[in-house]
Amino acid sequence: MDQAVNNVKAVQNHIAEICSRIGRNAEEICLVAVTKTIETERINEVVESGVIHLGENKVQEILDKYEKLPRNVKWHLIGHLQSNKVKYIIDKVEMIHSVDSLSLAQEIDRRARNIDKTMDILIQINVAHEETKFGIELEEAEDFIRKLAGLDHIRVKGLMTMAPFYEDLELTRPVFRTLKNKFDDLSKLDMPNVDMKILSMGMTNDYAIAIEEGSNLVRIGTGIFGKRNYNL
Ligand SMILES: *Cc1c(COP(=O)(O)O)cnc(C)c1O
Repeated sequence: MDQAVNNVKAVQNHIAEICSRIGRNAEEICLVAVTKTIETERINEVVESGVIHLGENKVQEILDKYEKLPRNVKWHLIGHLQSNKVKYIIDKVEMIHSVDSLSLAQEIDRRARNIDKTMDILIQINVAHEETKFGIELEEAEDFIRKLAGLDHIRVKGLMTMAPFYEDLELTRPVFRTLKNKFDDLSKLDMPNVDMKILSMGMTNDYAIAIEEGSNLVRIGTGIFGKRNYNL
């Protein structure tokens, strides 16, 4: 058996432990296994162990793996998406976590309409104003979502962020807390294509803090599959 399967169990146990400590229900937390650079045989063992939500940050990797993995897999596009590539994945993914421009949202809406689908999307927020990261500024999130009104083939399901890397992990806490507050505010927006349910935050190094601060979807790669080798 692949070590990744044991790691999944360990992560699930850790999530259960955190939740019981802080009085949350572990079943609220969706675990997305991030499979970038990982070969399909290893991913398949993880899927067979019961993890069906998989995350990729590149369109091409989803396309390469899509046919080789079981049909019950739910793919999450978690990385930056160029508008011209939406057409390749629109019928294949469960959710797009990285919507950060009006033109991208419009293209997703257009392509979804063509295949009679409503695409679930998250708005990526650059909470810490990092120049190296994609995402909408926190202060602009509400205006941005209002601009999406009328795009009736997308559904805004929530928000996503990547916290900056800090040596001192505790520094990520205010980042997550700030986004949770914004998420709660935006949940009150009354728009037909907004249904704020998913708060996608937390990766291998910071998921415990993210859950403590209200995340309900964590994206974990290294903690399941080990260190990635980008030179394969
Ligand atoms: C790679 C990646 C992850 C997973 O990172 P790990 O540190 O390996 O858990 C999560 N989210 C996004 C957007 C990623 O690109």
